[in-house]
Amino acid sequence: HPLVGVLAIQGDYAAHARALIDSGAEPVMIRTAEELVGLDGLIIPGGESTTMLRFLERDGFLGELKKFVETKPAFGTCAGCILLAKEVLHPAQPSLSVLDAAVERNAYGRQIDSTILSAETSLPGGPLEMVFIRAPRMTKVGDDVEVLADREGFPVLVRQGHLMAATFHPELSADRRVHQLFVDIVKRNLNGRRSSQPVEEAV
Ligand code: GLN
Repeated sequence: HPLVGVLAIQGDYAAHARALIDSGAEPVMIRTAEELVGLDGLIIPGGESTTMLRFLERDGFLGELKKFVETKPAFGTCAGCILLAKEVLHPAQPSLSVLDAAVERNAYGRQIDSTILSAETSLPGGPLEMVFIRAPRMTKVGDDVEVLADREGFPVLVRQGHLMAATFHPELSADRRVHQLFVDIVKRNLNGRRSSQPVEEAV
């Protein structure tokens, strides 16, 4: 089973760990930069991105995390999506700056920022339940970003090569298709390396 870290500073990392186990990966809780060594992929969970950032900005953790997500599969959900994005607005804050997207925090009005929707996505298997909690909105994505699902025309689930991001919380639904896709990316990336194919082809 591939080893997938879950950044466990704050937020709903435990639910991600369960979703990873269900999807055939072995979760590892990550609280220091040293613990990133040897991981095959990483999930940055939802929660409060400013709180996570404050913790990451100590002891060079943010820099090590950036090096990791630049080359290895990473999946950010909600606050994690905010941390991966190149541009963060409303309010602006620093980020890992790898996902070619602009993200506006707390972008939905008070009444609709937390809601459960069900909609078709580009994943096979019918409508997907999507749990939004004080959700950000991806207002802009680059040409290299594949939109797998949207809400009112704004991307909510995207993939950019070895990176995935969701503005909702797939770990809170029983449906495991989103985590399975990420674990699949992690496995393909591993196999690609082992047979020394270019990562781009494998993923
Ligand atoms: N509003 C939070 C933030 O800005 C994200 C909410 C979430 O992760 N559920 O970090």
